[in-house]
This record gives sequence, structure tokens and C-alpha cells, in this order.
Amino acid sequence: MSTRTKIKALLESGKTDIDVTVKGWVRTFRNNQFIALNDGSTNNNLQIVVDFENTDPALLKRITTGAALSVSGRLVASLGKGQSVDVKATSIEILGDSDPEKYPLQPKKHSLEFLREIAHLRFRTNTFGAIFRVRNTLSFAIHTFFQERGFVYLHTPVITASDAEGAGETFHVTNFDLANPPKTETGEIDFKQDFFGRATNLTVSGQLEGELGAMALSDIYTFGPTFRAENSNTTRHLAEFWMIEPEMAFYDLKDNADLAEELLKYVIRYALDKNKDDIEFLSQRLLEEEKQKPQQDRSELNLLEKLQFCLNNDFERLTYTEAIEILKESTPNKKKKFQYLIEGWGTDLQSEHERYLVEKHFKKPVILTDYPKEIKSFYMRQNDDGKTVAAMDILFPGIGEIVGGSQREERLDKLEQRMDEIGIPKDELWWYLDTRRYGGCPHAGFGLGFERLVLFVTGMGNIRDVIPFPRFPKNAEF
Ligand code: ATP
Ligand code: MN
Repeated sequence: MSTRTKIKALLESGKTDIDVTVKGWVRTFRNNQFIALNDGSTNNNLQIVVDFENTDPALLKRITTGAALSVSGRLVASLGKGQSVDVKATSIEILGDSDPEKYPLQPKKHSLEFLREIAHLRFRTNTFGAIFRVRNTLSFAIHTFFQERGFVYLHTPVITASDAEGAGETFHVTNFDLANPPKTETGEIDFKQDFFGRATNLTVSGQLEGELGAMALSDIYTFGPTFRAENSNTTRHLAEFWMIEPEMAFYDLKDNADLAEELLKYVIRYALDKNKDDIEFLSQRLLEEEKQKPQQDRSELNLLEKLQFCLNNDFERLTYTEAIEILKESTPNKKKKFQYLIEGWGTDLQSEHERYLVEKHFKKPVILTDYPKEIKSFYMRQNDDGKTVAAMDILFPGIGEIVGGSQREERLDKLEQRMDEIGIPKDELWWYLDTRRYGGCPHAGFGLGFERLVLFVTGMGNIRDVIPFPRFPKNAEF
């Protein structure tokens, strides 16, 4: 194969008057003369100029939207507007035809809903090209952030026998014949005969295992797929999503919040540096989309400004109790505009409340801490007031909760007492409790939903559009 130059490298090289070979897919072909070629390395197409008078008409007919080409020619300064260089083709080879009558991606604007149905082809649009390049950069940035700080990347199991949060909503893992599973004498399914000798499920969080690692390695993080069978058909939930879960020995809640804020700013800045073109494109896309909305529903800031704003301001930090006071006195609460009215202390916040705090009241990311223990998990460290735990949620504009974390309960007696209170079986979690028995220490960690981060940075509105092949109720296509 001849040496092929990626379009991004070619456009950035600043060179002209050299011979090049490029390969990619046709976006458009105008006037039998101008091919817009894209190879996914950048949102920018390369213009190929075809000498149509000296090209076989049969070949010209095969240059259609979606076709894969190899083009050799001379890179020259462009005469036209809109691009700095062209390739004057000397040879064009069709690597793969694409029947223009049947190709589902026509050179026009398609709705995101339609593109979701052809997720196998949507990478070939400007929007999804940009999204998945940004997603790639963000995942790399996450590793870079933690690696620079000496964290150990720990792979926690995908199949587990514990439901970390006690939240239910797990997918079972079994190799039983579902039509005819072995039964116990009392007629229940006998998981002792199952593959693992017990009931197992896909992980809903790697946290508990992550804590085990932190109790020796000091600072660890996980970054892997997470599964929740929650039947929530929202724009913020997937059945399969990726989560980043750092866990740090000798951290308290404030250290935890500081790290999370630093991480979020770091990776957003990283993407802005690395994927400027893509984010500018997505910013423009969002502006166009918002033109359809009434004035008062449009964002005050465009995507780029929103990201910059997030970088240049401290996140607002306040307690759950303070937030409840603000919400109680808020206009939508008084005018009964919230679907769930805030009556008093103790109720969980709904996403409408979170978004009010972030988008209307503070107009910036918010870190809420010290939630009532009843609405949080058993492993969160109990505060001295006897009512709250050292939990933190980070709320982002347009997203709601992006991070959930806490300082962990390191005191064995307190932890056991809480597990007894809410009926978490201590014998099943003997290994977790062992870390409190042997050299337990203050520690903290959090979970960052990767797709919610990608949503924020790309300005997209639906989580199904920021993962290549979304899994959600009634859908596992591709
Ligand atoms: P929510 O209230 O939005 O359902 P949660 O309280 O269930 O979130 P955690 O259990 O704290 O979330 O999980 C940590 C992070 O994982 C969340 O802050 C969020 O960013 C992300 N997350 C949780 N559930 C989902 C999901 N179903 N799809 C995508 N991301 C999720
Ligand atoms: Mn949830």
C-alpha cells in the first residue's frame, strides 16, 4: 500500500506543492469536479479537484456520497474559498462503492433520532465524528490526570456477587438454561449449581473493590463499564455506561471535592486544547439547534463560553441543608412549579431541584455535601450530628448530577451498626469489613459518570448520542 497521509496532518503541515496520497470517504461530489473527502482524523474535509475531462466517465459515476477512495495527486494552494489547500487528483481508485440510491446518509441534515437508528453509520457525520473524537480525548485525559498524580489504574471485576449500593437494579449473570433452571427442595432457583456457585450480576460500581486497592496502594482509580437495569428512559441514564471511580487513602471529604473539581477542570481544558475544531463545530451546532427554541429557553452562553466559564470559576460548595433552605424559598417551589415540592429537610433532591440550583440560582457547577444518611449509602462516613453523612454530589448545568462520592466510614463499629440498621448482610461483605479490621484509615472517593462528562463537553442533549452504541430499555441493536 502506498504511504497515506491523514487529512488532519496534511492540513496542519502547511506544506504545498508536494505529491500526496489520501484515503477516506466521499462526503459530497459537486459538479463532477470537487470531492469533499473525509477520513475521520478531523472534522475538516479535504477538497479533491478532479480533472473530469480526462477522467473515465464510468469512474466519475462511482464517486458517490459514502464511497471509499484512495486519491493520489498534488497538494496545492486552493483557488476556492473555504479551504487553504486542494489536492489536484492524478489518480483516483474506488476502494468501496456506495450506492447513492440506497445509502442511508444523504448529504443533508438528519435528525439525531434518525441517526440513532443507523448508529453503525452515524460516525460518518460531522456531529458524531466530533463527538467521538472528543470522547476519545476525554478518556485519555482522565488517564493522564491520574497517572501524573501517581494513581494506580485498578481493574475491578465486571461480574460480582455483591450489589455495591444495595440499590438493586442489577443484570443477572448465569449460564443456566433459563427455561429449566435447577431448583432447591423448596422450589427456588438453586444458584449453588450455577456457574459461580452463587447468584452473580454485572457490576453497578467498582467502588467496594476499589477501596480494597486503596488500602494498600494509597490512590487508585477504575475506569470501566458499569451496568444498571434501571428502567429509566431519561436523557441522562444508560443501562451500560462508563464510570471513573478514584479511591484515595488518607483523604477527607474536602480533599475528595478538591480532587474532583481539579479532575473535571483538567479534562475539560485538555479537550479544549486538543479538540478545538470539534468543540467549535459542536458549539455552532448547538447555536443552530437553539434557534428553534423560544428566546427565553436559549442558553445565555454558547458551548465554548460555558466550558470556559466552568474552568474560570470555583465550583460553589454548600451543604444539603443550605440547599434545602434555598429551594424551599425559591420561586418555583412557592409557585408550585416543581413537580416534587420541597416541604422540608430529609427528602432526596430530584433533578429539577439540582438543575434549579445550578442553572438558575448559582449559575455554575455546585458541590453539595453532607446529605441525610437515610438517602445515602451505608458506607458513607457518619457525621457527628448523627443525621448526615460526609457525602458529596457535583451538579453541572444542563446535566444535573455528574459526580457522586463520599468520605467512607472507616470505623468498624459505626459501619457495622449502619449495615445492621438497613439490613446489609455483614457476612457477605466480610472482605470489605476486613479492611476496617486491619489497618483501616480515613479514605474517600467518588464516581464520575463518563457519558455525563462527554454530554457536558459536547453540548449534546441526550446521553444516547455520546456513546457509540447505547444500551437502554428495549434496545441493544448493533
Ligand atoms: P442519578 O441520581 O442521576 O441516577 P446516581 O445517584 O444513581 O445518579 P451514582 O450511583 O452516584 O449515581 O453513580 C455515580 C455517577 O455515575 C453519577 O454521578 C452519574 O454521573 C453516573 N451515572 C449513574 N447512573 C447512570 C446511568 N444510568 N447512566 C449514565 N451515567 C450514570
Ligand atoms: Mn441512579
